Amino acid sequence: MKHHAQIVNSVCFLCTYEAHHNMIFNILWEMVVCSNINMKISATNLLKVIVPYIDAKVASTHVVPALVTLGSDQNLNVKYASIDAFGTVAQHFKNDMMAEVIGSRLYSCCNCRNHVALHDDVISKAFQGKNGRAFLFSHAMNIVVGPKEDRQLRTGLHTVADVYCSDCREVLGWKYVQAYEETQKYKEGKFVLEKSKIAKENW
Ligand SMILES: [Zn+2]
Repeated sequence: MKHHAQIVNSVCFLCTYEAHHNMIFNILWEMVVCSNINMKISATNLLKVIVPYIDAKVASTHVVPALVTLGSDQNLNVKYASIDAFGTVAQHFKNDMMAEVIGSRLYSCCNCRNHVALHDDVISKAFQGKNGRAFLFSHAMNIVVGPKEDRQLRTGLHTVADVYCSDCREVLGWKYVQAYEETQKYKEGKFVLEKSKIAKENW
């Protein structure tokens, strides 16, 4: 076990240098495709621990294909280890992958860069927030909706709920839960995010 920890440390250290990536992944790939079960499980664990030391591109070109291969292994221990490693990859590259998959312009929390809304979901940029201008979005993501409360706004009485960044809990704006005047009904279920609380990402 001590031996294994040393190998893990060495591989992580080597991974911090991009020049070593090819060598490391050649070795890991040999381990992935060999017939020894323990070797395959070691490879899976190594793929998992190097995740913090690599970027999204290396993950998608080297780590994910190796894990896909391990995930289709007939041995259940290998399969389960690869699922665990997949979880680590998905968690770590959550934001990068989302930007890549969506390929569109995003807004993120000004405080922690958590992705909170898509530019495509902007309904209006002419809203009044608590601290200046705000945008109305049809959807928001990675947010937490607080308790409902009635608020008298410039445009009449509304039931609203503050929305927080799910990562750092910064208050970003509010959600319109219910509007009472017919002309304001279109806001129901939509989100107002303060311009000063969000930053452009991937533009
Ligand atoms: Zn945040």
